[in-house]
Amino acid sequence: MKKYFEKLFKEGQEEFYKLIENNLKNEKRMFIVTANPETFTYGTKDDVFNDLLVSNDTTLIPDGVGIVKAANMLKYNVKERITGVDLAVKLLELSNENKYKVALLGAKEEVIQALKSVINEKYSNIKIVKMENGYTEDKDAFFKDLKNVDVDVCLVALGIPHQEKLLFKHLNEFKKGIFVGVGGSFDVISGLKKRAPKIFIKLNLEWLYRICKEPKRLKRFWDNNVKFMFKIKRETKNK
Ligand code: UDP
Repeated sequence: MKKYFEKLFKEGQEEFYKLIENNLKNEKRMFIVTANPETFTYGTKDDVFNDLLVSNDTTLIPDGVGIVKAANMLKYNVKERITGVDLAVKLLELSNENKYKVALLGAKEEVIQALKSVINEKYSNIKIVKMENGYTEDKDAFFKDLKNVDVDVCLVALGIPHQEKLLFKHLNEFKKGIFVGVGGSFDVISGLKKRAPKIFIKLNLEWLYRICKEPKRLKRFWDNNVKFMFKIKRETKNK
């Protein structure tokens, strides 16, 4: 996992936002993976996922608190979390300010429709060039159409690992644009699901809120985050 930690963006949210702003202005292509312990664990088990994590085309940002904690335990000095949902909001704000063209793939139909209403109301300068829910069989078809359209920001909310694999598979069909997998962000930005209250986010307990709201997340949390932290602890002891 060393190579993943080395690759993490370490300078914090403000610096990262400057980078995406510049890349958008200069029409540079960027593929962003928002990393949490599940992301790194998956990379160690799946070759395709590992390849996309270490690719030069990929920018890895520390989404989960577990990643920030682990990185700092291993002396990588990561400043702070840059969450997928905050990034998605920032990209919508930048797109609104600069009249960028946005494509959206993922989440349930009712969610994507609610998201469209939020964008039309709150970010009305955005042109949505393509939009589709995440439950159609052939998700490659979305990109077949998209590559003939000028797109600046492409947000894909299918959950890990599907969103990252799909984006990475199609990345080379595009010369510019920010491509990012944003997990459950559409559910939150659409207003249909509540994000944790600010105090939970501030205390780094957003994960606890999500488990309380959706207890089925507990197994996923145990399998990925708890085991991951034990592994990191062992590594720091062996050093
Ligand atoms: N999703 C989808 N198609 C699928 C499975 C999931 O569009 O076949 C969506 C789901 O509706 C949700 C998102 O993918 O909006 C994943 O959300 P989750 O909260 O699991 O992601 P996390 O933020 O935990 O990575």
